[in-house]
Amino acid sequence: MLEVQNLVKHFPVHGVGRKVVHAVEGVSFAIPQGQTFGLVGESGCGKSTVARTVMRIYEPTSGSVLLDGQDISRLSEKELKPIRRKIQMIFQDPYSSLNARMKVRDIVAEPLMVHRLFANQAEITEAVASMLGQVGLGRQHMNRYPHEFSGGQRQRIGIARALIMNPEILICDEPISALDVSIQAQVVNLLKSIQKEKNISFLFIAHDLAMVRYVSHLIGVMYLGRIVEKCGSKEIYLKPLHPYTKGLLDSIPSPRPVKGDVRKEVSIEGDIPSPVSPPPGCAFHTRCRQAMAVCRETTPYLKEVENGHEVACHLY
Ligand code: SF4
Repeated sequence: MLEVQNLVKHFPVHGVGRKVVHAVEGVSFAIPQGQTFGLVGESGCGKSTVARTVMRIYEPTSGSVLLDGQDISRLSEKELKPIRRKIQMIFQDPYSSLNARMKVRDIVAEPLMVHRLFANQAEITEAVASMLGQVGLGRQHMNRYPHEFSGGQRQRIGIARALIMNPEILICDEPISALDVSIQAQVVNLLKSIQKEKNISFLFIAHDLAMVRYVSHLIGVMYLGRIVEKCGSKEIYLKPLHPYTKGLLDSIPSPRPVKGDVRKEVSIEGDIPSPVSPPPGCAFHTRCRQAMAVCRETTPYLKEVENGHEVACHLY
């Protein structure tokens, strides 16, 4: 249903000649209907830029985004308007993504007004009340302002605003990372039940591999603008291949630690390099314990090494 092909996004660095930030470098993936593609990686790896470029908040430098076979990456703003109804987004921060001066009823109704989907205000109010009910809020919340809610409730308002358009694709950009741990599970379970009921496809972005695995059918691991490993969510745990993926898995704390347990040594060292001047060859070679001479010179590209399991590494 949604297919991203060789997506590239560069940002110019103002005042530094012709230098650019290589935010996204040739990312490709497909999300079948009713499934979730999880995009995971450290902060600054380009996950959110992928989401914003798919949404056309950023214009792609090159590559294409196909929705039901139609390339939407070069459409004009006017041509894009009916497409925007089909792709909606939930943002990371439920505090700054809701207009503090608007009541909940108006926040959730705003997309309906922009797209002129209902004839009168009474119909819009009923649609908002019904939508709030579906995300676990009530009619009594309609006349309140965002500051009167907890973080989890605010994210439910954000979800209601996205779902009221009845989208085919929901882009969830770190939707739980600003929430308390106890609330994260509630919001994730709400998203899962909505997907089951409405058969929506999700692009789920997070830096927590354990959470991404829980919600996703397919997973792409991103490092410095590229997907370095892509496979089903079970395989990523059972048989991770890329040294970076293995390092991310090693860094997940045990949910049931036992006295005397020795934590695995995390195999990733140092910080992510600058995307303005990414290292030549494999961008991970500056942090990889298995780096070889070829890794410093030749960029590895994704190739299928097992059924449906792709990895970009010279070890394979
Ligand atoms: Fe490590 Fe080389 Fe594989 Fe990159 S290509 S992950 S440096 S072994």
